[in-house]
Amino acid sequence: MRDNKKLWKVEARARNAAMADTVFGRIIRGEFPCHKVYEDDKVLAFLDINPLSDGHTLVIPKEAAETMDQLSDESAAALGRVLPRLCRAVIAATGAREYNLLQNNGRGAHQAVAHLHFHIIPKPNHREGLGIGWPARILDRDAAAALAKKIAAAIK
Ligand code: 5GP
Repeated sequence: MRDNKKLWKVEARARNAAMADTVFGRIIRGEFPCHKVYEDDKVLAFLDINPLSDGHTLVIPKEAAETMDQLSDESAAALGRVLPRLCRAVIAATGAREYNLLQNNGRGAHQAVAHLHFHIIPKPNHREGLGIGWPARILDRDAAAALAKKIAAAIK
């Protein structure tokens, strides 16, 4: 148990060092510029450099977590507290009434920058904003029951 904890700490330290080099790490440290819209001790929000629509905003934890499953409860709480306020500010400022909140985890899931981030993307019309492919299937009842149990049992 102790060894596991030690290993986890070593891995977290290595991850933090690697992540310090992402573009978002540099923005947090003030080494790269950004159009900042919000900052507190745990969270930073700024405009996306290649927006899908006006007001496209990125919201990031200052903690060096690459994906959502790596984020601490403290940073998660700080993000959760501020996200609705930032969404309200983006729609108030842009006049867009609809928007998507997007959060990609892993290269295969379209994550380009290895520092966890939420996108707030106004959807002013069908041409601008996020377009989504949604290859839905029918949920199998028996498989779903087993899978729901498996996921519930994996929650720590
Ligand atoms: P992802 O695909 O990882 O979810 O999205 C990364 C986002 O970061 C993209 O929308 C991209 O335009 C944005 N981005 C990448 N580099 C920079 C940068 O240096 N500054 C800003 N403001 N946004 C960036």
